[in-house]
Amino acid sequence: MKGLLDQQFSNGGVILSNLEDLTNWARMSSIWPMGFGLACCAIEMMGSMASGYDLDRFGVVPRASPRMSDVMIVAGTVTYKMADRVRRLYEQMAEPRYVISMGSCANCGGPYWEHGYHVVKGVDKIIPVDVYVPGCPPRPEALIGGIIKLREKIENETLVAPEGFKEILEKQA
Ligand code: SF4
Repeated sequence: MKGLLDQQFSNGGVILSNLEDLTNWARMSSIWPMGFGLACCAIEMMGSMASGYDLDRFGVVPRASPRMSDVMIVAGTVTYKMADRVRRLYEQMAEPRYVISMGSCANCGGPYWEHGYHVVKGVDKIIPVDVYVPGCPPRPEALIGGIIKLREKIENETLVAPEGFKEILEKQA
């Protein structure tokens, strides 16, 4: 970006933008996921962040705390025992926050869909999901595709508070 600015100014040009585009550009370029995994899908998630796939180039840098994270990548099987913890971690993340459901287990229960008495049949039963990544497990390329989908979503967001947001804030006060 600095190079672009330098080039523009050395040619006598200027860059015009608005606050919304600038904010969205900054947010989509620094998606920080919470670093935790639930089962085998998490191995692929870790692989995506290693040097071979290098998710860092999208500004995706895992954080150790939900309070520092923008996105929760639910990578693995959500058991009923874990469901409460997953929701609690989600609630500790500041708005705006996003969820990527990674793999069949998080999407719909996966191999446990029919007989898995202990598995939540989709993490969207307990928290809202923005992007679903299919696969068992999804390859790193698929997770990168999910990150790109999330970037597109953030790019088109508006800074205007959604309907009902004021009432939620008043309730929390
Ligand atoms: Fe494991 Fe497949 Fe479930 Fe991922 S979707 S956690 S790879 S069983």
